[in-house]
Amino acid sequence: MGEIKRIIIIGAGQAGGETAQRLRQGGFAGDITLIGEEPAAPYQRPPLSKAYLKGELSMDRLLLRPAEMYAEENITLLTKLRAVWIDRSNKKVRVEGGRELPYDALVLATGAKPRKLPLVGADLEGVFLFRTAGDVDRVRERFVSGARLVVIGAGYIGLEVAAVARQCGLEVTVVETAVRPLARVTSPEVAGFFLDEHTRQGVRFVLGGQPAVLKGQDRVTGVALTDGMEIPADIVIAGIGVTPDIALAEQCGLTVANGILTDRHCRTADPAIYAIGDCAARPMVHFEGRIARLESVHNAVEGAKVVAAHLLGAKDHTEEAPWFWSDQYDLKLQIAGLFHGYEHVAFRGVMADRAFAAFYYKGERLIAVDAVNKPAEYLGAKMLIQTGRSLPPAVLEDTSRPMKELVASAR
Ligand SMILES: Cc1cc2nc3c(=O)[nH]c(=O)nc-3n(C[C@H](O)[C@H](O)[C@H](O)COP(=O)(O)OP(=O)(O)OC[C@H]3O[C@@H](n4cnc5c(N)ncnc54)[C@H](O)[C@@H]3O)c2cc1C
Repeated sequence: MGEIKRIIIIGAGQAGGETAQRLRQGGFAGDITLIGEEPAAPYQRPPLSKAYLKGELSMDRLLLRPAEMYAEENITLLTKLRAVWIDRSNKKVRVEGGRELPYDALVLATGAKPRKLPLVGADLEGVFLFRTAGDVDRVRERFVSGARLVVIGAGYIGLEVAAVARQCGLEVTVVETAVRPLARVTSPEVAGFFLDEHTRQGVRFVLGGQPAVLKGQDRVTGVALTDGMEIPADIVIAGIGVTPDIALAEQCGLTVANGILTDRHCRTADPAIYAIGDCAARPMVHFEGRIARLESVHNAVEGAKVVAAHLLGAKDHTEEAPWFWSDQYDLKLQIAGLFHGYEHVAFRGVMADRAFAAFYYKGERLIAVDAVNKPAEYLGAKMLIQTGRSLPPAVLEDTSRPMKELVASAR
């Protein structure tokens, strides 16, 4: 790639912000330009559906680091600015307004866009997407006791929003097309546990429900389903997933499928361009090189570490096994590994205690854990997955021995 003096990062989110920081801290002395279309410096999204929505955290506390640190570290942070074009042959990025910025290496960290409800009424006042701090600021004004909220989509974000809404005294209905919540992300057993918890907290579920139209004149008043059911609503929040933001990658001819495809160094087919975070798909080192696009803080941070190590010519970064978490009421769910394709699940602890772990196996191999209020089980299983070790289900189910001891005995 020749000498690298200028690095441009497009997307000032978790992955982009971490990359800039790691490059500078790793000793890169050239120009770093971080371009982001949002008004704020890079911030964490996870609290948006948790403490920030509840009003317990200010915007300052969401920032990955104080905004002034970028200037102090000689990182050019351009906010409220969209990159609109990549010229690969001349290695330039064009931004809104026409200015062109040259690069020696380019990192795409453009994240993902929330899916809009494909329904009549989706643009009514009172209907919200849930991705940015700006989205949540608008929703939060409406989060008053007694307001009627319909959440469409029972994934982690939808359920976290439902939990906060109940804690704020809203009437909450969750509409989910699948027959159970969390269908894409966990087993029927763990999904059933969360369904019971939410139901106990007063959330109403319409499972297998297909929204047909959002009712209202200027502002939303209800959600009509295809079976004729109508649910009154003052607020509707869509939590129906995201699509990777691959527009620039497509424009400049990079390979995209479900995300921008990269090798294990997060490098695209163009050796001067990397892609990381929610917008990118790469081989998973702990899962036989299977190509996956993950949407998580872990993935954004690991991508930043991998790219920084590669650009700095350092030793390859040793990747952590994938991890994720979700907070609902007083339940802390911690996940490690990837559960897809599991054949057997083993439980340690019982759900009735609201503290248990579900271990997922493919053949004899442990591939993932969902741990609810069980941090030691989460950490132990993560360590096993990361080091390619396993323990038989019967061993992990034996609660008479501490998790730490079991992990130490694993081969
Ligand atoms: C409400 C919510 C809760 C979540 N909870 C969790 C959780 O509990 N645990 C967990 O692990 N993960 C969670 N996530 C997921 C996690 O936040 C994301 O995976 C992570 O933010 C991805 O980082 P990223 O940098 O790839 O993308 P983003 O953080 O989305 O950043 C991408 C940025 O690029 C900008 N951009 C895009 N195109 C351009 C362009 N052309 N020019 C300039 N800027 C551009 C976008 O506006 C955006 O600011 C949550 C996400 C949300 C929305």
